[in-house]
Amino acid sequence: MASIVLRNVDKIYAGGVKAVSGLNLEIKDGEFMVLVGPSGCGKSTALRMIAGLEEISNGEILIGDRVVNHLPPKDRDIAMVFQNYALYPHMTVEENLAFGLKLRKMPKAEIQKRVQEAAKMLGLEPYLKRKPAALSGGQRQRVAMGRAIVREPQPFLMDEPLSNLDAKLRVSMRASLKQLHDRLRVTTVYVTHDQVEAMTLGDRVCVLRDGVLQQVDTPQNLFDNP
Ligand code: ADP
Ligand code: ADP
Repeated sequence: MASIVLRNVDKIYAGGVKAVSGLNLEIKDGEFMVLVGPSGCGKSTALRMIAGLEEISNGEILIGDRVVNHLPPKDRDIAMVFQNYALYPHMTVEENLAFGLKLRKMPKAEIQKRVQEAAKMLGLEPYLKRKPAALSGGQRQRVAMGRAIVREPQPFLMDEPLSNLDAKLRVSMRASLKQLHDRLRVTTVYVTHDQVEAMTLGDRVCVLRDGVLQQVDTPQNLFDNP
């Protein structure tokens, strides 16, 4: 397991847009941290810098006890869940779940075990031989989650993972996510613009505005002192 620390992190995009300014944040081992704020406040940029999908302009990011500033995404020991699921269309559910582990040369028996466990946890066992095109939106989202779960105990980074689902499914997936985190206690950074989602899911919530941290606290404290 691992904590994630951002120290004085800036992101200035080419053209001069300052997307994130002087961000200091410590996400504790096992904590569910939500980054919330209106569109354009810099939450995706912050997450993408943790993932290594975006270079940082200034400051330092640590995952566990390692400074990861210049490490490529695949060497950061994190699992990412995207809004668009990013499943491989030509692979079955089982192959999609296994892919990230195969890439990392995990022994076959261990891969098999992890894929079975993740499928069981997410109710995907009946669909293992199907391809993504033959799944519903909610099932695809579960596969995307499963690809992160098989990588556990590596931290989960999630960017609006429920935003493509209809309202009803979003509420039920929110409950599943919460259960999953209560069970696995994996360090999680979760980006959303949805305040209800932030308040229900987060152990703590980090509120960003114009690239600047406004508040970081438990949902209860934020609710009491808005
Ligand atoms: P959020 O996730 O909160 O909607 P983003 O992190 O996507 O916010 O964007 C923060 C700011 O950075 C916005 O002003 C956005 O227009 C700008 N931005 C995002 N990505 C790029 C990019 N690749 N190049 C230039 N500016 C960008
Ligand atoms: P990880 O092992 O980190 O879970 P993958 O190995 O599955 O990730 O994917 C590696 C990269 O390929 C990621 O950046 C992911 O977004 C991208 N990717 C995954 N699925 C697709 C797809 N169907 N089409 C294009 N890119 C994809």
